[in-house]
Amino acid sequence: MRDPRYDILFEPMAIGPLSAKNRFYQVPHCNGGGYRDPSAAAAMRGIKAEGGWGVIFTEQTEMHHTSEITPFIELRLWDDKDIPALRKMSEAMKTHGALAGIQLAYSGINGPNLYTKEVPLAPTALPIRTFTNDPVQARAMDKTDIRDLRRWFVNAAKRSKVAGFDLICLYGAHGFGIFQHFLSRATNQRGDEYGGSLENRSRFAREVIADMRDAVGDTMALTLRVSLDESIGDLGFSNAEVRDFIEMNRDLPDLWDLAQGTWEDCSGPSRFKEEAAQEALVRGIRALTDKPVVGVGRFTSPDVMVRMVKSGALDFIGCARPSIADPFLPKKVEEGRIEDIRECIGCNICITGDMTMSISRCTQNPTFMEEWRKGWHPERMNAKGDSSSVLIVGAGPAGLEAARALSLRGYDVALAEAREVIGGRVARERLLPGLSAWGRVVDYRQYQLSQRPNVETYIGSELDADQILDFGFQNVCIATGSHWRADGVSRQHVVPMPMDPAMPVLTPDDIMAGRLPSGRVVVYDDDHYYMGGVIAELLAQKGCEVTLVTPAPYVSDWARNTLEQHAIHVRLAGAGVKIVLNRGVAAIRADGVETNCTYTDAREVTSCDAVVVVASRRSEDALYHALMARQADWADAGIRSVKLIGDAAAPGPIAWATYAGHRYARDLDGPDIGDALPFRREVADLAAD
Ligand code: ADP
Ligand code: SF4
Repeated sequence: MRDPRYDILFEPMAIGPLSAKNRFYQVPHCNGGGYRDPSAAAAMRGIKAEGGWGVIFTEQTEMHHTSEITPFIELRLWDDKDIPALRKMSEAMKTHGALAGIQLAYSGINGPNLYTKEVPLAPTALPIRTFTNDPVQARAMDKTDIRDLRRWFVNAAKRSKVAGFDLICLYGAHGFGIFQHFLSRATNQRGDEYGGSLENRSRFAREVIADMRDAVGDTMALTLRVSLDESIGDLGFSNAEVRDFIEMNRDLPDLWDLAQGTWEDCSGPSRFKEEAAQEALVRGIRALTDKPVVGVGRFTSPDVMVRMVKSGALDFIGCARPSIADPFLPKKVEEGRIEDIRECIGCNICITGDMTMSISRCTQNPTFMEEWRKGWHPERMNAKGDSSSVLIVGAGPAGLEAARALSLRGYDVALAEAREVIGGRVARERLLPGLSAWGRVVDYRQYQLSQRPNVETYIGSELDADQILDFGFQNVCIATGSHWRADGVSRQHVVPMPMDPAMPVLTPDDIMAGRLPSGRVVVYDDDHYYMGGVIAELLAQKGCEVTLVTPAPYVSDWARNTLEQHAIHVRLAGAGVKIVLNRGVAAIRADGVETNCTYTDAREVTSCDAVVVVASRRSEDALYHALMARQADWADAGIRSVKLIGDAAAPGPIAWATYAGHRYARDLDGPDIGDALPFRREVADLAAD
């Protein structure tokens, strides 16, 4: 079944004393669940095992209580009490012959220790480097501390073995692990034998790996995850120095795990990074070592993967996000089902689960982190219930996902879309600068629907309540989406803002429909995710003189959670957009906008020729309410249920819509659970005293 050109991806590969069954390597990735949701995290990893990955890793595991990154939720291995939860995970990973890996992290200069209240330890005394600028500094480690830390790593290695893991990854990438802190001159300014020359700065890594090899190396493999380029200028651990380090220590770990500089670089969204974006940084490193090399690059194409192996850049194909969007990626390649791969769109919504300490979602894979909580499998749906037909109105991400998932359950599905194209908001947004990869949300589902005999799609079909009552479908799902409000209602204004009708005011819908302003344009962003920044970028490209005004302290403030806020600011500044932070728009006048300071309310007038208001969205729920008003007619029409989902219920990011569509499909004809919680959760046992 498999295309022979992909055979190379399925070759068994040695890692130290072990052998991986193929080259598909799920590198460590966070999931927002971690120690709070151990069974949910374990089940998620188990699904990857079923999906055919050869190596599966945990997220970062805090290996000692003197270094932790509260409020972020990862895993912990502080003492033996943590072993059972980790064992549950390693067992899930190993169910289909994958190697189970644990990533051990000592966060050093990144660990504020807000929970344990310990004094942070780092190679050099500096303020803690976190997303939140915590007012905490680290103490410089003395020789006793270094000896202690070496012992703690050995203790953690032994516990990892007891917990059933095969591989240990030592975290020294993304600026987050102590190994990088020792390696980089930015964070290691020591004058002793652990600082100064590269030889000295790599001493700590050599010592820890030697200690761990003595302790567990006969049965476990040790990998070292390092940054390919710290990208902070001359002081940082540059790509050239990484190459020197690897050449100098060629056979130090059993495998080199190469990740780009910061997490923002390494997990760059598709708006800013292409697939295989790290190729130039990786190329040639393979020749400097006898050990295998893994690298990442949001790989979703098996052809690119083969190229990475055949060109000698990588031995293993490292994937985090592609394995989240499609845990069955390896299996689909193996079974010759390339077109069934649910490709990651590079939106980084998964990362927001970690950044917001909630639990992760995936735009493409709504079952992510619901494998245990809700029993959702990414490839298998629950059995059909006792009704048989569903009409879905609206073919945006919610309607498309509902149609796909319902068809797998065996329902006869009709999908009606008012426009001449399917995809809803995604059909329009994919045309905006940098967002073309988001179109995969539609492309994947469109292909899947084309393969299903029990789905009919009707484009150019704007339905009203009369038509729906005439059709006689048993279930009606209203997924009619939303539109951007032009009246400015969002956070600053909870009622419509004052506007002079002489000023042209546009919304993102206008812009996406091709109604573009010209001249001096103010983009007022009180939405705070990507749309305001994208519109500013587009208008600057089209030759407008753009001023972006936002009440937030950052452009595209929420995009800090998708790790792209920095890149957005850089891009807009580069495009000549004037960025005005901490100011709202109090009123739109005939000659411009009256801005007000978020703190003092001090006013200023900015002259302009047009304003684009990126505020909030209004649900398109009129059809739903019309049907609800006709409930007395449902029985005659054969209608058993009418439900409102997605943006039509409450506008949100695309991931919220695919989740809503999937949930609708799962729950249809389900039992009435009354007031019960609709998901499982784990509650820690109360201590006896
Ligand atoms: P969501 O994100 O919830 O999927 P979208 O706005 O992306 O919402 O998609 C909603 C889709 O529903 C749009 O493509 C819109 O054209 C379509 N739609 C809205 N009203 C109707 C209707 N009455 N009949 C058919 N399609 C509709
Ligand atoms: Fe990819 Fe977005 Fe899913 Fe993350 S949330 S895995 S970036 S599709």
